[in-house]
Amino acid sequence: MKTAAPFSFPVSASLAARLAKLGLHNEADLLLHLPLRWEDETRLTPIPDLLPGHTAQVDATVTEATVAYRPRRMLTVSVHDGGGNVLGIRFINFYPSHVKLFQPGARFRFVGEVRGGFFGLEMVHPRFTRVDDDTPLATELTPIYPTTAGLGQATLRRLIERTLTAPIADTLPAEWLAELGLPELEASIRLLHQPPLDAGLAELESRRHPAWQRLAFDELLAQQLSLARARQHRRARTTRPLPPHDRLTTAFTAALAFKLTAAQMRAWQEISADLAQSHPMRRLLQGDVGSGKTVVAALACLQAVENGLQAAFMAPTEILAEQHYRKLAAPLGTLGVRCAWVSGSQRKAERSKAWQAIAAGEVDLAFGTHALFQEGGTFARLGLAVVDEQHRFGVGQRLALTEKGDEPHQLMMSATPIPRTLAMSFYADLDVSTIDELPPGRTPVVTKLVSAARRDDVLMRVRAACHDGGQAYWVCPLIEESEKLQLQTAQDTFATLAAQLPDLRIGLVHGRMKPDEKQAVMAAFQAHEIDLLVATTVIEVGVDVPNATLMVIEHAERMGLAQLHQLRGRVGRGSRESACVLLYENPLSELARARLKVIYEHTDGFEIARQDLQLRGPGEILGHRQSGLPMLRFADLERDVALLEQARDYARRCLASHPDIAARHVERWLGSRARLSQT
Ligand code: ADP
Ligand code: MG
Repeated sequence: MKTAAPFSFPVSASLAARLAKLGLHNEADLLLHLPLRWEDETRLTPIPDLLPGHTAQVDATVTEATVAYRPRRMLTVSVHDGGGNVLGIRFINFYPSHVKLFQPGARFRFVGEVRGGFFGLEMVHPRFTRVDDDTPLATELTPIYPTTAGLGQATLRRLIERTLTAPIADTLPAEWLAELGLPELEASIRLLHQPPLDAGLAELESRRHPAWQRLAFDELLAQQLSLARARQHRRARTTRPLPPHDRLTTAFTAALAFKLTAAQMRAWQEISADLAQSHPMRRLLQGDVGSGKTVVAALACLQAVENGLQAAFMAPTEILAEQHYRKLAAPLGTLGVRCAWVSGSQRKAERSKAWQAIAAGEVDLAFGTHALFQEGGTFARLGLAVVDEQHRFGVGQRLALTEKGDEPHQLMMSATPIPRTLAMSFYADLDVSTIDELPPGRTPVVTKLVSAARRDDVLMRVRAACHDGGQAYWVCPLIEESEKLQLQTAQDTFATLAAQLPDLRIGLVHGRMKPDEKQAVMAAFQAHEIDLLVATTVIEVGVDVPNATLMVIEHAERMGLAQLHQLRGRVGRGSRESACVLLYENPLSELARARLKVIYEHTDGFEIARQDLQLRGPGEILGHRQSGLPMLRFADLERDVALLEQARDYARRCLASHPDIAARHVERWLGSRARLSQT
């Protein structure tokens, strides 16, 4: 935000403070502080024509004003139209000055919703102004602005009107607007603040009016420009290229028990080529749960090691980091790759020994959680950082990493597929590789929705699956409000199941366990020393035990779609038929019902993510923190897909041949935020 001389007219410190609460720091902000809705104050309604439930504007004269104390303190003003028709006005919040204002004989104009009260028609807390017989009516629709305590509509309107007296420069050339069929910026902003009567209230309110579209386009263009610029900056920086030597990577692929899928090959080649460049890679490897991202990431690490550099493999949970380490350390060790494990469960001495080896360059590949690497020591020569389940980290953290060492290449992985519109808008600074096929021989997971009333049937099913040589997960209900309760529930569930299924070997894993306890349980499950693993959602990400064929999720209605999809992805990893039982408790809310329907009907993560976007909106999917970018105020990624595509095309064109326009536009829309987010 600019700090110097924010307003060209006097604004008191207390007013400035209230404006700041609304994010209004200067005149440009005021211009874009657009109405929530508009009211038609161009007409007066005679009192006899008032209809309950409708908003109306009435001129009337005060008969009397009284303060009542029962049933609660309120100010009642009775007004008349001179022809014997009476209207009641009621204020529950009022000041002594109000009582003085409503003197008998004074004339006012009231705007508000009409209600049928005990004593005839009334308005509660209408807006009002003092009028004479000849006070003119509004000639335009009246804007109603988002506001805050102590800042009235009239004040805001006055400030914005003052700001509107100056011309508003357009950042885009007229011929682009003609091509796009969009109106000029000045006309759009003026229209939204002061729409003429014939502007079309419905179009304005649904934000499909061309004036809104112009603002949405500008906002999307600014976003595309700043992301593209961030990307250009990154491409302009240099780092050590890591060209393929096909030594370790070839040996590793040859030793695999399977052949890479075509999609894995493609993703791997993209990554390999990117690593060979002399600017830092920022690549997102996305692929549905179980699509086999880990081996591709391992190959990337090997390419770094082949070049004599180190790689870091990070996961969001200890369980997952440990699993990666245990799966990869042995096969990589035989290739001469020195692997290390840094864990919160290690004793301090052990951990600092690991860090020492990493710092001395005696370790080629280090595994650990993101938190550990942030707390931790330094790498002798870090060439590549792999971040698994990137959606769990957020962009802020993703950037923090860059500050360690000198510009390692980065590979981020995500199994939460991002719908295309979101990817285009919030991840446009990344390159993306997609694994769009599952390894062969997988039988699709059968999903069952079962009412909690039939829990006993589910127990039978668990027993059968385990007696059949398979293994099962039982996911405890999610209790977001209290970690303590969550723990209690997990322990209770474990005790109940142990009593009900005495013939099975049952284990429990939850988030409050010490890391080494957790590891021990997971290792036992992996080794099939446990048949049924009772777990909280700590097993949500990444856990890979192919012999597990049944997943039971209690209170599935409490979980989000991405979470359900992730959990379900823990089964169906081997060749045996797998099932996921979603236990739900009635009655279901509408949203829960919709979610369960989506997860029941779809197995494709991309489709699920798309539907999730529709149910929740992008803000929630990314979260403010996650996106790391200012949220879109005017554009809507579902409604404005076409505009988004156009914005992307124009951003390219702008950067290629009109850098001046790009600079002007980004400055106008993002100001200092754009300068900050350049990475
Ligand atoms: P995710 O993409 O969810 O991280 P993983 O990398 O954990 O998936 O892989 C899931 C399982 O599939 C693992 O057991 C892995 O060994 C196996 N796998 C990976 N690639 C292939 C392949 N090309 N053919 C057969 N199995 C594979
Ligand atoms: Mg994974």
